[in-house]
Amino acid sequence: MHISVITIFPELFREFLATSLIGRAMTTGDLNVSVYNLREFSDDRHQTVDDEPYGGGGGMVMKASPWIKAVNSLATEGSSRCVLLSPQGQRLTDARVQQLAAGNEHLILLCGRYEGIDERVALTVVDEEISVGDFVLSGGELPAMVLIEALSRQSPGVVGQPECVEQDSFRQGLLDYPHYTRPQIVDGLRVPDVLVSGDHAAIRSWRGRQSVRATLEKRPDLLATAALAKEQLEWLAEIEREKSESHAAAEDLVTRAEDKDNTKSPHE
Ligand code: SAM
Repeated sequence: MHISVITIFPELFREFLATSLIGRAMTTGDLNVSVYNLREFSDDRHQTVDDEPYGGGGGMVMKASPWIKAVNSLATEGSSRCVLLSPQGQRLTDARVQQLAAGNEHLILLCGRYEGIDERVALTVVDEEISVGDFVLSGGELPAMVLIEALSRQSPGVVGQPECVEQDSFRQGLLDYPHYTRPQIVDGLRVPDVLVSGDHAAIRSWRGRQSVRATLEKRPDLLATAALAKEQLEWLAEIEREKSESHAAAEDLVTRAEDKDNTKSPHE
């Protein structure tokens, strides 16, 4: 995967690109990320990349020409895709990450700062704006790292065991199942018996059910679009039934407690 990053803070990427799975992928060649300093594409001798906004107001705006020059000099004919990290872009999803990875294009990531980048950059060289969420950060460097790390997990050589990625949240439309490791008891909480039973079919089934449960409890919105198999629909129905039964049981306990209160003698 070939990615070029343009930023005024290239040093922020140094440790990121040298650490953990990303660092290993950079050395094996599974990931090829180059970081460019925008200032090197500035025409003036002070390497200025920002100026005051037309129309007044606070803050500075990044000048268009260094960006346009940088993108044009890095773009590889026909196979480059220029992505502006921006809070105004489409929110990043697992589906978009997979599409971008499958596209196998040279990605050029633009990391803005200040009030943002002169609009003419988006109008001329940018193919797509991507946001990492509905909040505003001070720069596009962390969003670029988020995108690079998410993309890197799609590359077969980056995550040692591909099945880890396949079971990840969102991949099958659901959240991942809960994970446990040693010791067996933490703060009085014991690892579910099935996980130490050695029964692999039972473990697979328990994990599948827990994945449906986690999605129902934490992100029920995902269930509306998840393509569930028959077995998963059955688990979902069972979990919902259990929940409504335990809700009914809880209501019953409250009613009994209230009844008890009402029948207390005034001397109690
Ligand atoms: N004034 C801009 C606005 O409200 O839309 C925000 C500018 S922000 C302070 C500076 C830069 O940070 C942006 O140009 C963008 O590159 C990056 N940035 C901030 N929040 C982001 C987000 N949620 N997703 C992606 N990039 C973001």
